Amino acid sequence: MITLNSKIETINGVAKRIAPKMKKLGVETVEELLSFWPFRWEDWSQVKKISEVMPNTTATINGIVELIQNKRSPWKKSLITEAIIADGSDKIKAVWFHQPYLVKNLRPGDQLFLSGKVELREDGLQFVHPQYERITKYKTETMHTARIVPVYPLTKGLTEKQLRYVISSVIRLADNMPEWLPSDLIKKNNLASLAEAIKQIHFPDNHSLLNRALERLKFDELFLIQLRTALAKAELRKSRGVKIEFKESETKKFVKSLPFQLTDAQRIAGWEILKDLQRQTPMNRLLEGDVGSGKTVVAGLSILNVALNKFQVAYMAPTEILARQHFSTLARLLKNWPIRIGLLTSAEKIIANHESRITNQIMYKKISDGELDLVIGTHALIQDKVEFKNLGLVIIDEQHRFGVEQRKKLKSPGHNKLIPHLLSMTATPIPRSLALTVYGDLDLSVINELPQGRKKIKTEVVPPEHRPEKYKFVLDRINDGQQVFVICPLIDLSDKLGIKAVKDEFEKLDKKIFPKVPIGLMHGKLKSKDKERVMQDFLDKKTMIMVSTPVIEVGIDVPNATVMMIESAERFGLAQLHQFRGRVGRSDKQSYCFLFTESAAAETIKRLQTVVKSNDGFALAEADLEFRGPGEVYGIKQSGYRDELKVAKLTDYIIIKKSKTAADEIIKIDAELNKFPLIKNRLKKFEASVHFE
Ligand code: ADP
Ligand code: MG
Repeated sequence: MITLNSKIETINGVAKRIAPKMKKLGVETVEELLSFWPFRWEDWSQVKKISEVMPNTTATINGIVELIQNKRSPWKKSLITEAIIADGSDKIKAVWFHQPYLVKNLRPGDQLFLSGKVELREDGLQFVHPQYERITKYKTETMHTARIVPVYPLTKGLTEKQLRYVISSVIRLADNMPEWLPSDLIKKNNLASLAEAIKQIHFPDNHSLLNRALERLKFDELFLIQLRTALAKAELRKSRGVKIEFKESETKKFVKSLPFQLTDAQRIAGWEILKDLQRQTPMNRLLEGDVGSGKTVVAGLSILNVALNKFQVAYMAPTEILARQHFSTLARLLKNWPIRIGLLTSAEKIIANHESRITNQIMYKKISDGELDLVIGTHALIQDKVEFKNLGLVIIDEQHRFGVEQRKKLKSPGHNKLIPHLLSMTATPIPRSLALTVYGDLDLSVINELPQGRKKIKTEVVPPEHRPEKYKFVLDRINDGQQVFVICPLIDLSDKLGIKAVKDEFEKLDKKIFPKVPIGLMHGKLKSKDKERVMQDFLDKKTMIMVSTPVIEVGIDVPNATVMMIESAERFGLAQLHQFRGRVGRSDKQSYCFLFTESAAAETIKRLQTVVKSNDGFALAEADLEFRGPGEVYGIKQSGYRDELKVAKLTDYIIIKKSKTAADEIIKIDAELNKFPLIKNRLKKFEASVHFE
């Protein structure tokens, strides 16, 4: 007897034949087969009379084969099979190419359904290469025609027909799929049962039942994510963190010493963070603020307080350039305070206000002895060799660049049992749906205003024919002493880091376009020292143009740069383009962003125009979700959930909200999930399957 646990080769002959191929798709058992879902459906459910069929449409008819024969087409020499089908209202021709064996499958007198495209030819209407399905005394239900038909993702040597056939022969076993959601929850959320959903997702009876099935299966996926997030949050709430006393007068003094007034948004964010730090439970906060909104100084406020409480701070940046820049910025901001600052990257180990570099060993020792209050670095900070004495706060800049696992590593402090506070910062606006799901365990602070005096950046999509005039315009800016970024995407896959692209662009600009202008070249393969030099030359205006791979995307601060040129802009996400644009517009001078594209495709231009029209990072991130799907949006990849969302999308707000409420309610009843063994079991499986990168 076949059960859910049976291997699929035991189902029938076809299943046996396709089993090796299904294995490639990760399907070995009947249960896995039933969990292998179509990715789309074709609706052939409207059966028409032949007399009603119109040219240049698709249609399904039900008729009898009057005649079927093979012919050779005179001009192509190809073999075609022609049939005449009649249904009492009229007759119609059907043709197939290169399938001579059809004359053996279909005989005059056979009753069948045909679904496909109808075209008008010299001798009348005809179905071109339609799907066909015979109806007999024994087989009255259709699988491939005259219904909503599932379309599965395939692999080589596998056909839709085979899959539908094999799945249909075990679909009744869906009734045995264990329902893992409590009936209360199902009722409250008006969900289909799991069995019903599985049956309908494969062979929907109608659209509304298909939608209901999809809704249920989406709910399942999102509910698991929500549960995981809620449990992580609950666990954190139980653990003990480091209490950081608010140093009020010192904080005021620090704020006064700044060369500018904090914006209201900066003050509020800073205050929220300082309040978290005073609690016994570890902070888990995401500070979101558009590029240039001034997150670094807000981080500075918290660093000051933690350091004055005699705890250490680890500050992680995604690139060496940024780590270096934060190091000098923070060393400057905090120079009048008794705070000892170190820089730790794979290439550099430096202590602020000490001239010379130090060795790895000395750096590690200073960290573990607590002789440094603030250590800024890259990934190098999370090596096992690095142990803090009393880590109180971890700051992660541009957090979506770091995997969740990496974050965990930094969380566990060297010697004390207390969990350090965590502040993540990002300029990538996280769409509402993401904030609710994959980042649901984070508290959110948002800096939603830019410092005063910033001019709006003028953005333009530039087609090839306008390139020369833009170059002229750019040259004028340069002659006026302003500086320019040029970003090149990676061109082909062999050019993994985009180095060839950037070098070609450099050559072109250097030799042909701006021969008199000093140009810098930045890419990921440069040694850290060289990156440093390229960056410094640009800051010192020794070079006026910096051609770069997308590495400068995050964080870099060069107020004198007023033009951002982006090559093949269509290759980037909208939020990413917005990030690039944020590299300019940091002074009171008018800044420009040129989106170069060779593409004239309407869809592409429309997408790029969104960046022209909107200066709102949040809106752009949402638009990214719409245009490119969640897989492309930042954060998803690192969230580890990418492969887990088979049917749910991060635009399914309503289901996201429902699933969150449901997860919170379950946890409220029993955070250990002992009262919900099926959920617990399912969650365990889910956690084992999540791939954190
Ligand atoms: P981001 O949020 O992108 O990390 P930064 O912290 O790098 O932004 O700040 C961008 C620039 O704005 C820096 O040069 C910083 O000194 C400046 N800045 C920050 N806050 C203010 C403010 N309130 N007023 C004026 N300039 C500010
Ligand atoms: Mg920053």
